[in-house]
Amino acid sequence: MTATATLTRLDRCDRCSAAAQLRALLPSGGELLFCGHHARRHTARLRQIGAALSSGP
Ligand SMILES: [Zn+2]
Repeated sequence: MTATATLTRLDRCDRCSAAAQLRALLPSGGELLFCGHHARRHTARLRQIGAALSSGP
């Protein structure tokens, strides 16, 4: 998995394969992508564990 600066339309939500709108970089070094729906669902939890969140274009 490569860490690119911005999301593109080719990036897909890790949960449902919709277009990704939020990237979460985990303290462990992992990376998750979320669509708008799943971003809203998981943002609070991701902040709790110290993930760095960045949204796409
Ligand atoms: Zn999703």
